[in-house]
Amino acid sequence: MRYVDEFRDIGLINKISQRINSIMPRQNINIMEVCGTHTQNFFRFGLDKLLPDNLKLISGPGCPVCVSPQEYIDRAIQLAQDKDNLILTFGDMLRVPGTKSSLEKERAKNGNVRIVYSALDSLTVARQSPLKKVIFLAVGFETTAPTIALSLLSAKKQNLKNLFFLSSLKLIPPAMDYLARDKRLKLSGFLCPGHVSCIIGTQAYEFILKKYKIGCCITGFEPLDILEGIYFLIQQFLRHKPCLKNQYTRAVSPQGNPAAKKVISRVFKVSSASWRGLGKIPDSGLKIKDEFSLFDAEKNFSFNDQRPTTNDQRPKCRCGDVLKGLISPQVCPLFSKACCPEHPIGPCMVSNEGACSAYYKYRK
Ligand code: SF4
Repeated sequence: MRYVDEFRDIGLINKISQRINSIMPRQNINIMEVCGTHTQNFFRFGLDKLLPDNLKLISGPGCPVCVSPQEYIDRAIQLAQDKDNLILTFGDMLRVPGTKSSLEKERAKNGNVRIVYSALDSLTVARQSPLKKVIFLAVGFETTAPTIALSLLSAKKQNLKNLFFLSSLKLIPPAMDYLARDKRLKLSGFLCPGHVSCIIGTQAYEFILKKYKIGCCITGFEPLDILEGIYFLIQQFLRHKPCLKNQYTRAVSPQGNPAAKKVISRVFKVSSASWRGLGKIPDSGLKIKDEFSLFDAEKNFSFNDQRPTTNDQRPKCRCGDVLKGLISPQVCPLFSKACCPEHPIGPCMVSNEGACSAYYKYRK
């Protein structure tokens, strides 16, 4: 198949969903789709309606906005409150709540926050605003890290003195390790994220198979991709032979993208990172290497960090449990009542890739 229409062919979709239904065993099968785009497309294309009730798709922590911790948003807000600074961010981050405010509210008050569409835009803004300290909010997974690394290297080459990066970049395999360990989830398989896998390759998931005997299938984003990925995982389950399968062969190779991996390791070092809802996970984040500290916002600004207390958390918000896959969004008492995309209370309702947002739009 070469064209997107072919991956959405209703005849083929019906055929594969019938095949899934015909092989489905009686017991529950829990599959975690790690990527937010899988979550969104699963409901957007109505795939949930085609599959058996005892096949449970659990949303994983694959939305970068949702997993950015409150402390990170608080730091960005502190920077935005200084009139000498200009914060650059992807649009989704604007409405994510920090402890007491959001970047959107700060932008309304003082205008020190601007939306950009690529990390490379930060170079242009920094050149055009020589009197400001320009701070780019570096958020995302292995997919966005290469462009951010390239932007930092370009900033060095251009000798820019007023551009900084506040890194909250995260790595997916350590988060999967954390979730695979959680016996409460009873996972039978992972639908591994397509975009991240383009960079890290299939080999990056081998440890899940060896350590936890949980099947993995790297899967594309079109309806037929997702259904085929699910079909492969159920087959593995039935044969009691979990394995590492690559459904997304048109984009993902065993070794991934060596050039992208090289530029990431040129600029960043692996460190522990805080994930909203999951807490601190060892070796799951990317920090800027010391040799580039002139561009590291953490090293060039001081922060008045406040650990969020229970009182600072939104009462009744269950984002943490949604991000751990322990509950589906509708279980949160605020879902579609106090919390909806127009008035999000937690980050999972903010981004299109957030589980709560996907459930609200397509499954309310
Ligand atoms: S519905 Fe809103 S408050 Fe509840 S878990 Fe989702 S984002 Fe958080």
